[in-house]
Amino acid sequence: MSSQATEAGKFGPLPATKNRMKTRLLELFACRMCWKIAAAVFALILAVESVILIPSAQRFERNTLDQLTSHAIVAVEPTLAASGYGAQRDLLAGGLARSVGQYGILGVLVVGSRGETLAAAGASEGLERRIAHAAPMGAGGERSADGRALDIAWPSRDGLHVAVRIDSSGVSGEVIAYALRIAGLVALIVAVVTAGTMVVLHRLVLRPVLRLRESSLAAGADPDQADRHLVPGGQADEMGELVAAHNSLLGRVAASKRRDREMAAERARYLSHHEPLTGLPNRAALLEHLEQLRTVEGDSPGSVCVYLVNLQQFRLLNASFGTERCDELLRRFAARLKQASRPGDFVAHLGADRFALARVEAREPAPAELAERLIAATEDGYDVGGAERVSLAVRVGISSAPTDRLDPRALVSEAEFALARVRAEDGARYQFYSPASAEEARTRQSLLRDLEHAVASGELYPVLQPRMALEPDGGARLAGAEVLVRWKHARRGFVSPAEFIPLAETSGLIVPLGERVLADACGLLRGWLDRHGWAPRLAVNLSARQFALPDLEQRLERALGAVRVPAQLLEVEVTESAAMTDVGRTARALASLRSLGVHVSIDDFGTGYSSLAYLRRFAVDAIKIDKSFVDDIGADPNAEAICDAILRLGQSLGCKVVAEGVESEHQVAFLRRRRCDEVQGYFFSRPIAAAEFEASYVAARAAA
Ligand code: C2E
Ligand code: CA
Ligand code: CA
Repeated sequence: MSSQATEAGKFGPLPATKNRMKTRLLELFACRMCWKIAAAVFALILAVESVILIPSAQRFERNTLDQLTSHAIVAVEPTLAASGYGAQRDLLAGGLARSVGQYGILGVLVVGSRGETLAAAGASEGLERRIAHAAPMGAGGERSADGRALDIAWPSRDGLHVAVRIDSSGVSGEVIAYALRIAGLVALIVAVVTAGTMVVLHRLVLRPVLRLRESSLAAGADPDQADRHLVPGGQADEMGELVAAHNSLLGRVAASKRRDREMAAERARYLSHHEPLTGLPNRAALLEHLEQLRTVEGDSPGSVCVYLVNLQQFRLLNASFGTERCDELLRRFAARLKQASRPGDFVAHLGADRFALARVEAREPAPAELAERLIAATEDGYDVGGAERVSLAVRVGISSAPTDRLDPRALVSEAEFALARVRAEDGARYQFYSPASAEEARTRQSLLRDLEHAVASGELYPVLQPRMALEPDGGARLAGAEVLVRWKHARRGFVSPAEFIPLAETSGLIVPLGERVLADACGLLRGWLDRHGWAPRLAVNLSARQFALPDLEQRLERALGAVRVPAQLLEVEVTESAAMTDVGRTARALASLRSLGVHVSIDDFGTGYSSLAYLRRFAVDAIKIDKSFVDDIGADPNAEAICDAILRLGQSLGCKVVAEGVESEHQVAFLRRRRCDEVQGYFFSRPIAAAEFEASYVAARAAA
């Protein structure tokens, strides 16, 4: 019975009380335990009563017989007295005969002092034997075998002895009736006691036990809410203590379950709001925080700024240092970022190499100093177990919005756009979001996707631009050609290298792209050799990233080896800036390329950090004067002086000098005068398709 049911019963109307009674009775009858206790009580009382009943029935029988005896004596003695104790025999005989039939007397025998029979009446045969056992008051009477007659004898006055046979046939019946009465009484007592016991048991034991059972079952089925199934207590006995203990247990179970649940929820919340690696809040948490700022700071002036901090080339770091050390690096990066923040800033880890800092600013736009400070704090001096300390390239995308117009998701994705723009631009380290840049980033993103596809699918193909050697006689002959990649996109049409090469550079796609161009160049060489027995040297452009590959030499060797093309037919153009990033490495790389037999030229010479001192250390076959200087020949004496200087440098280093972007007769004349070795430009030929190049230059030269 639940506590509610009890409560209802307590205050409910009569029918409810009736019902309650009925329920209790049913409960009682259904209770096995109660039946057992009641049966035990019943048996016990019965046993006790039967122990008492037998002697009391015997006593009752004896009393009844004693009564019969004394009645007989009282009936006979007056007759004896009236006859003068046998002096008048007739009187005696008559009196005795009359007494037969009274007081249950069946027969009488009176014997004189000498043992002579003085009178006998009724069924007196055999009574003389009893005379010998005469006792005062007839005590010690003897009953016949069938219990119907009781023979008694007593000594009377004047030496007389009297023996009487009394009808005792009713005694057994009376004893049985007596026993039955007693048994009935006992049964009644047993019934009352048992019922009472049951009622008391019900109150004190059964009801609490049933409630305990119900409560235990309900709590077991619903342990989280165990304390909703408490048993009403208050009984001041062991059962009360049991109920109290049970309730406290349920309370503890529920509390512990609730704690478990809360802890699990807390843990789930933590996990769903934190980056496990750094323990910093994650993207979801950042968005939540911004949402909160919107509601809390919504009507205060000022703005919310998001600084998206990105660790460049993290994949590369991962590959070279291994996941474990990079994880450690990220943790330290996170710690520094946190250190560089100020109280109230929200620092988050959005995944992998991307972090964010959100701040409320009183002014707009967001201050650039913070971006600089974040970069400075996180950039340098990581000890990842190697000899050198590792420096990171850190880029920051910044977005901000007035607090009253804050859209958390938009704000974060604007910072992402800004970051994408920084990453696409060489040199910039942070950028503010602008709607135009976002559009640009989107376009760039879509172009990058297409380019990825193009590299894989063969939408890219090489064109060739002849490089002409200037001859002393005023003529020019083919010295080689530069391989330039072209992309014809199914929908966009021709996409300029000026557009997609930088994109490929920043995304890393330049490596597979370059590999492709290299393979194509080798394939062309193979074809020409096969068809014409001769081929000019082809120069392919190597991007800084390709140049930095540790296995560059093997890659080139593989590409050449795959189609069995001699290394002398290949030249690589490395830009000056790529060559100057790590001079020691460049020197080694160039030497190893040259030892392969591959020619090397420095591209765009003069535009970068032209360290002539270093150039001496590099083993190069040619330097290419950048088109910008060639353009200004005849227009800018400065440009001419530069061209002059480069030409003299080449001559002093013993390497060829190639002028790029030659478009006019005048330029050719200038270069010829200064003894420039080779020229390349629209003046001689635009970059042309491989088939055209083969027909115009390779086949023609082979035939000559
Ligand atoms: P670059 O290596 O300096 O290539 C020379 C660029 O100048 C080519 O532009 C070429 O078409 C252009 N050019 C040659 N002669 C003249 C001229 O007389 N007048 C003018 N106005 N331009 C001339 P392109 O093909 O658009 O390539 C641009 C840049 O893209 C290249 O500059 C190079 O840095 C890069 N690039 C092209 N193909 C590849 C490649 O296969 N791999 C790599 N890594 N970069 C490439
Ligand atoms: Ca080039
Ligand atoms: Ca160039």
